[in-house]
Amino acid sequence: MLRTRNITAVLVCLLVAALCAGCGREGSPPVKGPRAEALPKYKVDTGFQLPESKTWKKAKKRGYLVVGAKEDQPYLGEKDPATGIYSGFDIEIARMMAASLGFQPDTIRFRTIASANRETALQNGQIDYYVGTYTINDMRKKLVGFAGPYYMAGQGLLVRTDENDIHGPQDLAGKTVCSAAGSTPYQRIAADFPKADLVAYDTYSICVDNLLTFQVDAVTTDDAILLGFAAKAPDEMKVVGKPFSEEPYGIGVPRSDNALRAALNDALEANEKNGNWKKAFEATLGLSGVPAPKPPPIDRYPTN
Ligand code: GLU
Repeated sequence: MLRTRNITAVLVCLLVAALCAGCGREGSPPVKGPRAEALPKYKVDTGFQLPESKTWKKAKKRGYLVVGAKEDQPYLGEKDPATGIYSGFDIEIARMMAASLGFQPDTIRFRTIASANRETALQNGQIDYYVGTYTINDMRKKLVGFAGPYYMAGQGLLVRTDENDIHGPQDLAGKTVCSAAGSTPYQRIAADFPKADLVAYDTYSICVDNLLTFQVDAVTTDDAILLGFAAKAPDEMKVVGKPFSEEPYGIGVPRSDNALRAALNDALEANEKNGNWKKAFEATLGLSGVPAPKPPPIDRYPTN
């Protein structure tokens, strides 16, 4: 009895050893995802003061920042369901901004806000600022303020790898295409490609699920977002065609808080100069195959 047990134990050990030996071997899929040790550490400006900013003052008093973000966009804004930790390029931008505003890393609380709810969240003071693939445009500028841009994306299309008919938005007539409610890509398809059968959900990850289960023929949003999804399942999905819009990403702030907007623009500029921006990009979005571009020039637009 004892002998059999020992033999079983030895066999189990051998099996485990054999399985583990295969883990790190050449040919096994690379572990893709931001590695914590590759991320820059942002120096907290402990003496920073911004009394002209209502948002900053309120956050200081409360002891932490509340930052709006996405939680289901690979390499940009992702929340680990097990730990609750957010990661990605947008999250790094949010963290570098917090450090410049004098907030320690453990005093940032991320809150997931969908595309359609960003303006209301900023207007109601639910969040202090928002970093989540948020395109700066004139319509939105009537409702919120924007620091940045800190990245330039462009609208694209994601299809299943076996799809051969869709190469650009002109091929969408009669096809079902999915996007997020309240997003600029949704609005562009509705306005410029009315023959497409357009459906909207709260998030792009729901669109991707629908693509993989043959409920829709394509997903449309920014190339940066689509490349992230494609990189996670390259055998199943591909990004097709060229980007057909310009989507400058900004940091959303409450509209009247010009002091906060100016401080964030200063912080962005400083982090682009000191190399943090590039390091953060390479450790996050760069992993999906997007090469590190030069950040676009900051737009310090006047308010009316
Ligand atoms: N950048 C686009 C937008 O702000 C699409 C991505 C998103 O929905 O966050 O509407």
